[in-house]
Amino acid sequence: MDARTVVVVGGGISGLAAAHALVSGANPPRVIVLESSPRLGGKLAGDVLEGVPVDLGAESVLARRPEGVDLIAAVGLGDELVHPATTSAGLWVGDRIRAIPPTVMGVPVDPAETVDVLGEDAAARVAEEKGLPRPALTEDVAIGRYVAERMGPAVTSKLIDPLLGGVYAGRAEEISLAAAVPELYARLKTAPSLLAATGELRAISQRRATDGKPVFAGLRGGINRLIGALETDLIGRGVEIRRTTTVRKISRTPDGYSLETGPVPAPQILHADAVVVATPASPAARMLAELVPAASSELAGIDYASMAIVTLAVRKKDWPAGATGSGFLVPSDEGRTIKAATYSHAKWAWSAEAGGELAVLRCSVGRLGEEYVLQRSDEELAALASADLRTAVGLDAPVVGSLVTRWGGGLPQYAVGHLDRIDRVEAAVAEQPGLAVCGAAYKGVGIAACVASGGQAATRVRAHLDALATMGS
Ligand SMILES: Cc1cc2nc3c(=O)[nH]c(=O)nc-3n(C[C@H](O)[C@H](O)[C@H](O)COP(=O)(O)OP(=O)(O)OC[C@H]3O[C@@H](n4cnc5c(N)ncnc54)[C@H](O)[C@@H]3O)c2cc1C
Repeated sequence: MDARTVVVVGGGISGLAAAHALVSGANPPRVIVLESSPRLGGKLAGDVLEGVPVDLGAESVLARRPEGVDLIAAVGLGDELVHPATTSAGLWVGDRIRAIPPTVMGVPVDPAETVDVLGEDAAARVAEEKGLPRPALTEDVAIGRYVAERMGPAVTSKLIDPLLGGVYAGRAEEISLAAAVPELYARLKTAPSLLAATGELRAISQRRATDGKPVFAGLRGGINRLIGALETDLIGRGVEIRRTTTVRKISRTPDGYSLETGPVPAPQILHADAVVVATPASPAARMLAELVPAASSELAGIDYASMAIVTLAVRKKDWPAGATGSGFLVPSDEGRTIKAATYSHAKWAWSAEAGGELAVLRCSVGRLGEEYVLQRSDEELAALASADLRTAVGLDAPVVGSLVTRWGGGLPQYAVGHLDRIDRVEAAVAEQPGLAVCGAAYKGVGIAACVASGGQAATRVRAHLDALATMGS
């Protein structure tokens, strides 16, 4: 019997990881990846600025969980794996960049250490948290609002907002505690106070840190190289990749699924025994609208934040000696344009080496609700970013080159109740045998979480194909 066909919709890291998992076992199915854009990789993308390779989207992968680094090794890039030379970022508050006190995703551990960032009064309010009634959380809350109530609003605006904003580009006031910081949520069901819970989590992470294993990893030349290596690996295993192919609709047929692509007046139909939908939530909602309306309407309710990455090249000799560490974060109420800056030449030894005389800096701009910031031209955004760097670190020299990369709808927002929403989506999808969903919209936006999500979707699809094989034999 011919191998069964699985179509993966979406050629970002989640879809490619799903395809990889599908063809990695014995008796692999035939796999076709359909990608709407001319380029694979989604939010992993690279370019070259003034001769220096740069990541335009994601730039590192969490190494504390295995999925991302395992996939890197599986596609032959294990020897190219590197770790940041420094990850110590600062916080731009007021007139200077300050050290970020110990926190769990922005929630303080030690009130005394927050004085420099929050000021005496706000730090004293943090200390009073221990005297409040036990948290005894029974349901999900918005992390920013909850912490503001217990520790004061300055903690949310100066610490949680920039730290969470770096991951979700969202507003701390709206982000789900259960989805964004699940370990803290779990502890707040029983911990005597928020400070006690963050203290316990901090002790755990310090114990872990003694094993010497780095928390983050990258690839020499940029994490986006993973996409090219994955593509080569997949093609070598017989996976067919079709670019500029947008799926509009998925329907059930007596023996599987049909996928509608091509222009509306002249649709093309592709048949599949099973389908993995690995796109962001809104295209997934559209293509599943008739097949799984319950999942579709839940997916349509997931908001996305838009942002841009402004990459700047400057002469190394112009880089201020006092600007050390890996970069800095900026609270949204500080009135600056950039929300974070990474000194790529300091963070990644390969970037410093490749840069020669040049240093590359990466500034991010735009949060949920700040779309107006992105309405400026590339030149204006580059000028604003370099003006912010001048004020922040005293970079008083012209930039040699710049690249502005816009990520419209770049990051899904995990609102309160997100995990329950995702449970409902997955329950509805599971009623369709051989259909699976994966991607950043579900249970983690980071690359490692996306790879894990692709792997889980592949496992569900393989189980369905195995069941079909058993029935057929
Ligand atoms: C600027 C930025 C920086 C980031 N930095 C990091 C970082 O340093 N580390 C980290 O771990 N994470 C980072 N992230 C998050 C992470 O990169 C993303 O969450 C992740 O790459 C998303 O992968 P995905 O495959 O789920 O989705 P996507 O990358 O969005 O891929 C989905 C693919 O589906 C395609 N598609 C959409 N609709 C259709 C359709 N109808 N038919 C066919 N194809 C379709 C799209 O074109 C796209 O290629 C960053 C994200 C952004 C935006």
